[in-house]
Amino acid sequence: MLLNRCTLALFLAGLMGPALADSHYQLDLAGHDRHQVAVSARFVAPDASPLLLQMSSASPGRYARHDFAKNIYALKALDGQGNPLVLQRLSPTSWQVSGHQGEVQVSYLLFGNHADGTYNQIDSRHAHLNMPASLLFAPSLRAKPATVSLKALPAGWRAATQLYPQPDGTLTAPQLDYLMDSPLEISEHQLLSFSQSSAGKTYQIELALHHAGTAEEAKVLLEKTQAVVRQQQAIFGELPDFANQRYTFIADYLPGVDGDGMEHRNSTVVTSESSLAQAEFSQIETISHEFFHAWNVERIRPKNLEPFDYSQTNMSDALWFAEGFTNYYGKLALKRSSHFDLDTYLEKVQKPLNQTLQTPARRWSGPAAVSQQAVFVDAGVAVDKTNYGNHFLSYYTYGEVVALALDLTLRTQYNSDLDALMQLMWQRFGKPEQPYQLADIQQALAEVSGDVEFAAAFFRDSIQGPALPDFTALFAQMGLTLSPAKPDKAWLGPLLLNTFGDAVQVQSVSRDGSPWASAGITDGDLLLQLGAVRLRTAEDIDTALKAARPGDVLALKFRRFDQDHSVNITVAADPTLQLSLDNKASRASVKRRDAWLGTKKL
Ligand SMILES: [Zn+2]
Repeated sequence: MLLNRCTLALFLAGLMGPALADSHYQLDLAGHDRHQVAVSARFVAPDASPLLLQMSSASPGRYARHDFAKNIYALKALDGQGNPLVLQRLSPTSWQVSGHQGEVQVSYLLFGNHADGTYNQIDSRHAHLNMPASLLFAPSLRAKPATVSLKALPAGWRAATQLYPQPDGTLTAPQLDYLMDSPLEISEHQLLSFSQSSAGKTYQIELALHHAGTAEEAKVLLEKTQAVVRQQQAIFGELPDFANQRYTFIADYLPGVDGDGMEHRNSTVVTSESSLAQAEFSQIETISHEFFHAWNVERIRPKNLEPFDYSQTNMSDALWFAEGFTNYYGKLALKRSSHFDLDTYLEKVQKPLNQTLQTPARRWSGPAAVSQQAVFVDAGVAVDKTNYGNHFLSYYTYGEVVALALDLTLRTQYNSDLDALMQLMWQRFGKPEQPYQLADIQQALAEVSGDVEFAAAFFRDSIQGPALPDFTALFAQMGLTLSPAKPDKAWLGPLLLNTFGDAVQVQSVSRDGSPWASAGITDGDLLLQLGAVRLRTAEDIDTALKAARPGDVLALKFRRFDQDHSVNITVAADPTLQLSLDNKASRASVKRRDAWLGTKKL
């Protein structure tokens, strides 16, 4: 008797547990010293028609295209009896297997030596794996359960993951999207945790820490993490309902890993090449940002990121909210949890504020439009040159400043705050997992401010358009002064430079309207002399400017395409703004500031 495939699969799954899911992967780590994992996958196809297999070109949480297929090779396909099957490559990222009877076994080698929140690093210390970069998958089995088992683990290595652990050591996912969202850190790491109660449940918040530091340092990081988790929970009133009542920070703080953070539903990857001691625990900043994503982006989710497209990038106009507001709250939670003192926090606010107020990029794009350019900038590798300094402002920075603008406006003019907006977005969209659109944020803003016209004008002018409110006036009402930091300092604008031998070459002039740009200096120019100073290093420019005053005119000699030129350059005043405490602030302003920055009770 011949059972039909589905019945057989269900029957066997019932008998043998989760090891026989529709997509089952075995990761063999025997080649870890050569940066290799041998992957075998078994797919139970719905029928005997050709099975499409695909490597992802995108990674949830990363907004640009990535071609993960480049790092798999020695690909073979067999049927359920071990007979070779025809494997045809249809595109750089997809294959078709034909001639099977419903079961397809595939094997390949996976290379990886770049640890971050997107790629893989397999070496003598760990197998740090992100699934979209690792697993060939069958799109037709996307809604079906998937399992992973591990083979040839070096002694002492174990897995840190949000996948569901089974008694036989198999790791399971209810469907392929969850598997793709689940990074795996397999190593000899420390595992620390604390319990946190929320809405009548107790959650284990784990820190899987792969580092070369001390147990004492690990404990300090855990305490800082706990304080941040509590401050963020206070914003939303509850934790997300994490699967298995568990959330895992997967932290790699090791030489040779790339600094990053990547959020997932019930875990996050945080990486840094510095140790905790070297970085003075600044890794907590990424931890705070990523944990806020457990609400904002993982569950309060932009509609245009759904369903996730593994063959190309999803474009979103909401990253100023998804990433920018997360940046804002990542830092605010660190002030409220007392990791940052007031001076440090003001410095952290000052930096994105200066970038946003001074960039010429806002001439062309508001926050919604810059969000849509994430597909170009989130890849980490650019081959050709760009003019981003003049036309692109990161949605992280820009969105953070929009969050600040909105929080201060709500607090000073509407007797409300941004926490109330985030709570409403959580209750209405995050908790019931209903994806939102920009109009939904506008509606929520109208409700928390009680002013429909204000919300409409803010979205028209400051989200679709580039306008920003008067920050000097807003800060004054919070007992803070925003003023020029160095109004007498000579300034020519930001330049990226290459220095080699005794030459100073311009890599890019990143600000239209600055003295450098107005004098006609552009990328590739060799800067020879400024005023009386011969330029051999970047520091020589500072020396030449030390004696100058805003308004002075200096002679600039430069070489372009082997010809020498001379121009006059008019020195401007340094436009950098600083934020400081107003010692004469009213009691009402100080009270407002304390309500904004003070520790929240759970
Ligand atoms: Zn983020």
